[in-house]
Amino acid sequence: RVSAVSEVRRQAAAFPRRQGAVGEITIHQVSKSFGHLKVLDDVTLSVAAGSVTAILGQSGSGKSTLLRAINHLERVDDGFIAIDGELVGYRQEGDTLYELKERDILRRRIEIGMVFQTFNLFPHLTALENVIEAPMAVRGIGRAEAEAEAHDLLARVGLADKALAYPRQLSGGQQQRVAIARALALKPKVLLFDEPTSALDPELVNEVLDVIKELARSGTTLVIVTHEIGFAREVADQVVFMERGRVLETGTPEKVFNRPDHVRTAEFLAKVL
Ligand code: ADP
Ligand code: MG
Repeated sequence: RVSAVSEVRRQAAAFPRRQGAVGEITIHQVSKSFGHLKVLDDVTLSVAAGSVTAILGQSGSGKSTLLRAINHLERVDDGFIAIDGELVGYRQEGDTLYELKERDILRRRIEIGMVFQTFNLFPHLTALENVIEAPMAVRGIGRAEAEAEAHDLLARVGLADKALAYPRQLSGGQQQRVAIARALALKPKVLLFDEPTSALDPELVNEVLDVIKELARSGTTLVIVTHEIGFAREVADQVVFMERGRVLETGTPEKVFNRPDHVRTAEFLAKVL
């Protein structure tokens, strides 16, 4: 049972969910501290269902913490995050909100896919086994169905012929594409990418960005922390610039990259471009 939550609920209810929207993310006045360090400072952000949001900002500006908060990996101190009108971290019964138990958090987290900088594949499993593992365990589907889906997903990320390869036999770009296929296997409404190409050799970056571009066209809601400005310009509906836990600037790529409101945004872009 959560006290003082009626205000949060009242605010959440004030954000009407669009008809038929899937994967809409509402982040409202979210703050989070680690000790004395305020890592998220009054962050408010809307991500439309099916849209692509690119988050930029220096190391330490709170980008990963924000993604982790969306994915139930980090509890926020203030404000709320809702996905399709459902509060992250809480369950509603009548007028009362309850904090979710770990088991329920795991169930909700399935709806959100996350791809990390380091691919985190199981080293002792083949690409195919990496992709079928979670759907079999979590969605409760049988091996034959899981394998059929996994073959489709591996084909979608351009790895139809690598189903039986182990991670060590794959390049970084290929491993990251397996990680994307694995995230897709849970049929998430939302996919979060945390610097998905930062650990890759430069010549392998594009093969991963091309897969993400294809996903962007498919209508899954994507939130991508990236330093790839060209990619963000081409694919993102919305660009967000974070600094010291705050959202300093939000807008279309055209706006943020060509006519930023803040001098800090311009300075950052000058460094990464
Ligand atoms: P970014 O992804 O933009 O580089 P992070 O969200 O990872 O930023 O981190 C923001 C700040 O929060 C950094 O100063 C980082 O050191 C700090 N931080 C992140 N996670 C923790 C944690 N679990 N405990 C303490 N400090 C943390
Ligand atoms: Mg980070």
